[in-house]
Amino acid sequence: MSTVHTQDLGHAGTLGSKPGRMVVLGAGESGLGAARLAAKHGWNVLLSDAGTIDQQRAEYARQAGIEIEEGSHDMALARKPSLVVKSPGIPSDAPVVRGFGEAPVIGEIEFAARHSKARMLAITGSNGKTTTTSLAGHVLQRAGLDVFVGGNIGKSFAAQLCERDPAYAVLEVSSFQLDDTAAFKPSVSVLLNITEDHLDRYGHDIHRYAASKMRIARNQDASDHFIHSAEDPMTLEHLSEAPQAVRRLPFGWSKPTPNPDGSMPDGAWVEDGHMHIQFRQTPFSMSIYDLALQGKHNVNNAMAAAMAARVLDIRKDVIRDALMDFRALEHRLERVASVHGVRFVNDSKATNVNSVWYALESQEQPVVWIAGGVDKGNDYEALKPLVKQKVKAIICLGKDNRKLHQAFSACVDVMINTQRMDEAVRMAYHMADKEDVVLLSPACASFDLFRNYEDRGRQFKAAVKAL
Ligand code: ADP
Repeated sequence: MSTVHTQDLGHAGTLGSKPGRMVVLGAGESGLGAARLAAKHGWNVLLSDAGTIDQQRAEYARQAGIEIEEGSHDMALARKPSLVVKSPGIPSDAPVVRGFGEAPVIGEIEFAARHSKARMLAITGSNGKTTTTSLAGHVLQRAGLDVFVGGNIGKSFAAQLCERDPAYAVLEVSSFQLDDTAAFKPSVSVLLNITEDHLDRYGHDIHRYAASKMRIARNQDASDHFIHSAEDPMTLEHLSEAPQAVRRLPFGWSKPTPNPDGSMPDGAWVEDGHMHIQFRQTPFSMSIYDLALQGKHNVNNAMAAAMAARVLDIRKDVIRDALMDFRALEHRLERVASVHGVRFVNDSKATNVNSVWYALESQEQPVVWIAGGVDKGNDYEALKPLVKQKVKAIICLGKDNRKLHQAFSACVDVMINTQRMDEAVRMAYHMADKEDVVLLSPACASFDLFRNYEDRGRQFKAAVKAL
């Protein structure tokens, strides 16, 4: 959770903004981006990583005039910088961060935003960030706008700014990144949902995690818009933390109460199989069956993206076309193939319970479910009714599958353990009948058996192709 370093910076967006000595902690994509952007703006930059820095990356940094430290942060601490930019992976209360005393500590998004005139659309939530960011980015691109799409996915904002400041930036922002913001003020912010995830970083307190998510709106004012779920309980509980002045645009599945004059309030909802977007008295609607991305959760994502596009004045026909021709993202309910009528779906990115809930919810045929991995403190209770209703067998793909067995042995007849993807896929295929779905949607992190969720998803796809 944020410490004094970041939380007290809200009033001091310009603190540490005059080029001087800067330390960048962590040489990942965002760290290198921030270091390069800083060097470009005349800072004397040291890029420090407690591990090793990839050779190519180090060389690239050196060529940009950046000093490098590997294996410790000793040089960084001795440097007495006037500004520290830290990787979101390093908690704010890590000893090294405390070691910088009074120096402001911010994240790459904050630093980049200070060097950009782009109109920013920032998207956060426990699930759906990447999908909604890509979807909204696609709409803006299709409208012919000069737009950068990235942040927590793909290229960092800072790396983009080393080349060019775009007119629009669609940014995926995680709660860790939000913890390291101070004056960050998106023109449009989106909060999709708040459900359990990453709680280990927040003292196992979901309210602290929720407070981090709410930081996306905290500097917004009457000239800005805040798009948020009208239904997600945790979002609603924390909504009062958003500034009074910001213009709120709720989205959800029930129709809001009309205004006293009979007009509809601004926001988005679903009615008669259509999603309706209302903004400044202009309605826009389209059938949810025309959306390229199906499933209830994707209707939420589409409502948020379309609402944002309306705020940015994008034409309705452009929004409609873009939401219809968007191509599904890899590892997110991605249709892999149909083998003798058995459909295989790769949802490897589903690393928490809530995303699996939506994956199961959107299935209309019996499911052979491949789940498991590193459990992040999952509470499986919410999945039980869906598992009883839709799942015929569970293949547990993890080193330790005890929790899955405890949770679901009373819900399904067949549960099998394996530690190999090819075996999991073969077993699932044999258990499935024609028209059934084999769904990889693990509810867990991947690093017990795989390098990351992408590796897990690709192994799944390779195993399906080998059938
Ligand atoms: P994030 O970037 O927040 O991790 P992704 O778009 O990568 O989100 O999706 C992660 C997982 O969550 C996928 O399994 C996806 O199908 C599911 N998902 C996507 N959007 C939502 C949503 N609005 N609510 C719940 N689950 C979602």
